[in-house]
Amino acid sequence: MSVPLRQQFDVALYIMKQKLRGNKYYPLVLMLEPLFRCNLACAGCGKIDYPDEILNQRMSVEDCLTAVDECDAPVVSIPGGEPLLHREIDQIVKGIIARKKYVYLCTNALLMEKKMHLFQPSPYFTWSVHLDGDQSDHDRSVCQDGVYDKAEQAIKNALAKGFRVNINATLFNNASAERMANFFDHMMDIGLNAMTVSPGYAYERAPDQEHFLNRQTTKNLFRDLFRLGKERVKQGKTKWRFSQSSLYMDFLSGNQTYECTPWGNPTRNIFGWQRPCYLLGEGYVKTFKELIETTEWDKYGTGKYEKCADCMVHCGYEPTAANDAMRNPLKTLLVALRGPKTEGAMAKDIDLSQQRPADYVFSKHVQEALSKVHAEKIRQAKLPETVEAAE
Ligand code: SF4
Ligand code: SF4
Repeated sequence: MSVPLRQQFDVALYIMKQKLRGNKYYPLVLMLEPLFRCNLACAGCGKIDYPDEILNQRMSVEDCLTAVDECDAPVVSIPGGEPLLHREIDQIVKGIIARKKYVYLCTNALLMEKKMHLFQPSPYFTWSVHLDGDQSDHDRSVCQDGVYDKAEQAIKNALAKGFRVNINATLFNNASAERMANFFDHMMDIGLNAMTVSPGYAYERAPDQEHFLNRQTTKNLFRDLFRLGKERVKQGKTKWRFSQSSLYMDFLSGNQTYECTPWGNPTRNIFGWQRPCYLLGEGYVKTFKELIETTEWDKYGTGKYEKCADCMVHCGYEPTAANDAMRNPLKTLLVALRGPKTEGAMAKDIDLSQQRPADYVFSKHVQEALSKVHAEKIRQAKLPETVEAAE
């Protein structure tokens, strides 16, 4: 796992404190989405299918920092949309760093060079660049030519300026293990700090529904990848550095039976606190406390809910792996040293026969949010001139 020792220590200390306090529902990573607007329209994206009135909404700096304080997770990931489109993104990042939280600023890198001067290298700050593979794989994934080249150049410049830079790669069922392995080698060669790799979640609102991975295909793909990774180390190439834990990678390779921990990466966006997780928007509440106390957590996860059937995404399963690592340090050490098992029988998977059917609630919360936007517009239009002048 290629996360700085200081960060590993702070996160481990945080988990120990939560366990000593007897907290079961504690967050590890806050997923903070300050806007949904993006300057790309990727085929596998489930985040941007909203009317303009929603895409034009922004969380204020104050709302973002209140969310960070409420949740108090040691790590804050800022995805989107494209966070660099937010005019005050530098203030949001500064405020989070001032609270000594580790920030991952996710970006498709189109604006990274232009906005890099707004940020400073810090042990608390990491760029997380969306790159789904080599030039041809990535440009196909984001449905636009030339994006890979811009992203790689921005990564190199950020590294040269002393920033920590990761990539986040989503794999679909058209990924070739050999090509991805070559891409990982290249990322190590340019000096990237670490990679986050995840199987694509089958967002119901994504335009391309054909290329999402099911669980068995995910496990086979990751076994193929790690087999190639081990061969490359034997050939003297650099070992791939991942920002995910070794046990999560072992899970992706079919060697662990894990249940989802949806509260581990809670999500706050313009709608409020999202239940149950980053991937599913099944309802929203105003406070983090309300999210934790009123969400029926047992209704979600693989084997419990149809929409979770194929999910192996880090936002649900990395917190499970982190818990397992605390309980089983020896197992963790052995997997970290040897890498995930790539041969032999896989761990038994979760039975899907009792899962409840999918509930389609997307339109309802979008309608509610639109009503709020319209009500606010009417309220603004009715403000007396004196108040507008004072503003
Ligand atoms: S860059 Fe990210 S947020 Fe933007 S369209 Fe692509 S997947 Fe969606
Ligand atoms: S399995 Fe967990 S992380 Fe995945 S969609 Fe379901 S609740 Fe969300």
